[in-house]
Amino acid sequence: MSHANSPREWAIDTLCIHAGQEPDPIHGAVMTPIVLSSTFAQDGPAMLKGPGFDYSRAGNPTRAALEACFASLEGGKHGVAFGSGCAATMAILLMLKSGDHVLVGDDVYGGTFRIFDKVMKQFGIEATFLDMSDATKVRAAVRPNTRLVWMETPSNPMLKIFDIAAIAEVAKSASAWLAVDNTFATPVLQRPLQLGATIVVHSTTKYLNGHSDVVGGAVVTDDDAIAEKLHFIQKSAGAVPSPFDCYMVLRGLKTLGVRMRQHVQSARGIAEWLASHAQVARVHYPGLASHPGHALASRQMKGPGGMISFELRGGIDASRAFLAALRVFVCAESLGGVESLAELPAVMTHASLTAEARRALGIGDGLIRLSVGLEDLNDLRGDLEAGFGAALRAAR
Ligand SMILES: *Cc1c(COP(=O)(O)O)cnc(C)c1O
Repeated sequence: MSHANSPREWAIDTLCIHAGQEPDPIHGAVMTPIVLSSTFAQDGPAMLKGPGFDYSRAGNPTRAALEACFASLEGGKHGVAFGSGCAATMAILLMLKSGDHVLVGDDVYGGTFRIFDKVMKQFGIEATFLDMSDATKVRAAVRPNTRLVWMETPSNPMLKIFDIAAIAEVAKSASAWLAVDNTFATPVLQRPLQLGATIVVHSTTKYLNGHSDVVGGAVVTDDDAIAEKLHFIQKSAGAVPSPFDCYMVLRGLKTLGVRMRQHVQSARGIAEWLASHAQVARVHYPGLASHPGHALASRQMKGPGGMISFELRGGIDASRAFLAALRVFVCAESLGGVESLAELPAVMTHASLTAEARRALGIGDGLIRLSVGLEDLNDLRGDLEAGFGAALRAAR
């Protein structure tokens, strides 16, 4: 199997289906085989066969196909797959050393916050959390030992938009790397490496796999030295995905383009409808002209994505009644699957933050986050309408 990266000029819909996935040369299998073998026969001691596999922690044909696909989708040279998004994040941080400093967006995924705030602290790596809306404030927070800048855009759950190109400039002038968590946007809507990021990270659990049946992660970079370090960490620390999970993600990726376009179209429809609803105090969706990051999102992204959050009037009882009444939307954490999900960040995804930190970010008891799936738009709106009815009765 050859896993040479596909031509960069191919459009993303073509890359999703073909990148890293040439028919296998032995049987001509059109779909990538799942190679479960943990070990590979050698022609003699330390004489590896053609593709160079020896042991599946170090490298595996199904994983190699997925890694080539990740690299092509993000327009980078190297893709590295991990057993979860958090393992991908950890692999990046394992390239740092004690005494290094990191700047992190204040509205990052809870598990990412926990890694910086709890795990890395033990190893003498210090993180400063800050709102990255203003690049000059990011520049002012740089220290002589700042090695890495970490951002998510759109952010979670407030859907704030940060300027990747401007923050890439700040990182570059500080000789630091910029890592962008591109889980919410996906390469269909945003390609951070083209905007100057050093590293892109994904929880493939979300849109890339897209069917809520795999936990996985990925890192992509154009930098040969960083890629070599990441492969060394992947092999040494061993947080690798199974060949079966790699196959599942390859299968999910084939429809990424069409899925993302539909997620965007439906989310747009729901966001506009919510914005005019009497029981909604505020909608956070970068596709609305009222969103503070709207102009930047229009420049930086090909579409505002499938995630929405909104403030329901009526307090915690109304929020609980709203979620309990939904039948199409499932009340659950996570996002990016074909099925629509709804959740209450204050008591679910963001419960690990202190009440004060939640207040500072604007995460109140009325904030509801939606991952808009691929069901019929009228059914989705009807379901939310039933939720609003229940919320009204509960608030009375
Ligand atoms: C889910 C998520 C992660 C963590 O990924 P896991 O696959 O759950 O380990 C990281 N970043 C973002 C933005 C996420 O949504």
